[in-house]
Amino acid sequence: MKGKIEKIYKILKANFSLPEPRKLPPVEELVLTILSQNTSDRNRDLAWERLKEKFYSMEKLAEAPLEEIEKAIKPAGLHRQKARRIKEVLNILTERFGGLKIPLKGEELYEFLLSLKGVGPKTAAVVSLFSFGEAYFPVDTHIFRVSNRIPLVRGKTRKEVQDKLNSMIPDSLKKELHLLLIELGRSFCRPKPNCSACPIREYCDFAKDSPSIGEKGKKG
Ligand code: SF4
Repeated sequence: MKGKIEKIYKILKANFSLPEPRKLPPVEELVLTILSQNTSDRNRDLAWERLKEKFYSMEKLAEAPLEEIEKAIKPAGLHRQKARRIKEVLNILTERFGGLKIPLKGEELYEFLLSLKGVGPKTAAVVSLFSFGEAYFPVDTHIFRVSNRIPLVRGKTRKEVQDKLNSMIPDSLKKELHLLLIELGRSFCRPKPNCSACPIREYCDFAKDSPSIGEKGKKG
C-alpha cells in the first residue's frame, strides 16, 4: 500500500500545482477553524475579516464581551455558539498556559486540541500540521470520499479513515498529499466523479468497477 500511495502522490504532484497552505499562528488558526464549521469559505473569511478589524489581536479578542464577538462573526452563522466556543478556548489557554499560547508538541498537542469543545479530529490535525509543523494527516470530506473510492483505506467515518491514513502515509508526504488529494476531490473526484479524465484512474478500483461513471461525469 505504501508503494501505491507514493505512486499516486507522484502522479498528483505532476498534475496539480500545490496550493499555498495558509500559515497562521496557532491560536488564530484555532479561532478560524471554529468559524469555519458549517459554513462556506466565503462567509468564514468575511467573519474573520470583521473579527480582525474589530479586535486587532487575539489578546483583545480574549477580553472582548461575548455580544461584541457574536456581532462581529454573524456572517459565519451559528454566531452565538461559535462566539461562546472562541471565548472558552481563549480562556482555557490563558488559564492553563498563562497566555494565548500552546507550548505542547506531538501527541500531547493533538490530544489537547481534541479536548477543546468544538475541535474535532480534522481540526486538531489541521492545526497540528499547518501551524505547528507536526506530521498529521487531516481527512476532510474530499479526502474521505477519495480514499474510500480508490481505495487508499476504507472507513465509515472520517475519524476512522484519518487514523488509518495517519499510520500509513510517510510523514514526509503528509502535508503535500493532504493538499493534493483535496485538489483531486475538488476537480475530478467530486460527488459525481469524472473518472475518464482523472490522472490516477489506473490505480482506482472505483473507476475499474464502474466504467460508465467516468463517461457520465465527462458529459455532465
Ligand atoms: S478515477 Fe474516478 S473515482 Fe477514482 S479517484 Fe479518479 S475521479 Fe475518483
